[in-house]
Amino acid sequence: MHPPHPTRTTRALINTAALDSNYRLLSSLAAPQAGLIAVLKADAYGHGVEICVPALLHAGAEVFAVATIEEALAVRALAPAARILVLGGLFEGQAEAALDRNLTPVLWDAWQLKILDEAARAQNRHAASVPVHIELDTGMSRQGVAPAELAHFLRALFAAPALRVEGVMTHLYAADDVYSTATSAQFELLDAMLGAIADAGLKPEVLHLGSSASLITGIAPVLRQLAEKHKMRAALRPGLSLYGITPHFNPAPTEVPHSLSTARQQLAPVLRWQTRIASIRQIPAGAVVGYNGTFVATEPMSIALLPVGYADGLSRSLGNRFSLLIRGQRAPIVGRISMDLTTIDVTEIPDVGVGDEVILIGPQGDDEITATDHAHADGTIPWEILTRISARVPRLAVHSA
Ligand SMILES: *Cc1c(COP(=O)(O)O)cnc(C)c1O
Repeated sequence: MHPPHPTRTTRALINTAALDSNYRLLSSLAAPQAGLIAVLKADAYGHGVEICVPALLHAGAEVFAVATIEEALAVRALAPAARILVLGGLFEGQAEAALDRNLTPVLWDAWQLKILDEAARAQNRHAASVPVHIELDTGMSRQGVAPAELAHFLRALFAAPALRVEGVMTHLYAADDVYSTATSAQFELLDAMLGAIADAGLKPEVLHLGSSASLITGIAPVLRQLAEKHKMRAALRPGLSLYGITPHFNPAPTEVPHSLSTARQQLAPVLRWQTRIASIRQIPAGAVVGYNGTFVATEPMSIALLPVGYADGLSRSLGNRFSLLIRGQRAPIVGRISMDLTTIDVTEIPDVGVGDEVILIGPQGDDEITATDHAHADGTIPWEILTRISARVPRLAVHSA
C-alpha cells in the first residue's frame, strides 16, 4: 500500500506556473504565423501528464502530440476535447481505441490506412469522417512516406474512404545546426510532395513540422509561407522548450536570432529534482567509499548519504564525475552511484545536517544545476536526462512564480 501522499524525500517538483509561461512565450514566438502542438511524449518528458495537461490547457493549448496509443489515452482522460496526435503510428489491435477515444494517428504506411479504415467501416462511420495526419519523409529515413512511395500511398488513401487527411507533417533532422543546408532541402522536397498531394485532390488543413530548435531559431515565417502556398494552416511542435530548456545549437550561431535570446532569457525550467540527506558519517584517510573502492579518502572526510540512485534515473556514469547542490554549494559525488544510493563529499560544507535538501536538477542559492549539465557530464542530451527520471520518483505539482 502506498501512503496517501508521496512521502519519499527524492522527488521531482513540477512548476505549473513555469509550464504555463513557457507555453505562452513559445506561442508568442510562433504567432501569428504558426500555432503550437504541445509535445507530451514519454509522460510529458518525464514531468507527468497528470500535472502538465491541465496546466497546458489553462495556458490555451488545444493540440497535443504523444508517441503511443497508451500515452494518448492517458492524455484523453485529462483533455476530453483536445486534438491528440499519435506520432508513432498505429498497430494491429489499436484502431478501435483510436476511434472510440477520438485519437488522431499519424500514418505513413498503406497497411496502417487499411486497419483504421476497416475498423471505422465496421463501426459504420461515415465517409471521410475519421481525421488522420500523414507523415512525409523529407530526408530523415526514419518514418514517413518516402517520395518514391507517395503515389502508391495516395492510391491506398483512396482505398480507405472512411479516412480524411486533416494534417500533413514532416520532421526536420538538423534544426539545431543553423548553418546546415539540410532544412532548406527538406522544405523543397516537402513543397514538391505537397504539390502531388494537392494534385491528387486532397485538401489537408494543417501543415506541421519543426521542434523546439526550429521554433526558437524563427522558422515560423518560412513555414507559414509554404503552408499558405498550399492553402494550409501552419503549426510547430515544441517539446523540450515547453519544459523550459533551450536546446543546444551546434555550431553556436554567430548571430543569435531575437527569438533565441528571448528563449534563453525567459524559458523557465519546469522540473526541480531534489532529495534530502539520509545520514552523514565521518571517515578516516584511507577509507574506501562505495562499490569497488573507486574512491579512497585522502584525508578525514564527511560523507553524506542520499536516497537516490541509478534506478531513479541518476546516471551511474556520474560517480566521481559530478557534483550536487547543498546549501548553495557544490558537493562532489564520491564513489560509484548504486541502484538506490549515492554518496557525496560534504567535508567543505559548514553546518550540513541530516534532512538538508540536495538538488540534482534546479536552482539553489546563487547556483543551478540543469538537465543540460547532466547531459554534458554523461555524454547525452537533456531529452534523455529528463525522460529517464524513473517512475519511482514521485512528481508533485507546485505553482510558484
Ligand atoms: C519529440 C518530437 C518533437 C519535439 O521535439 P523537441 O526537440 O523536444 O522540441 C517534435 N516533432 C516530433 C516528430 C517529435 O518526435
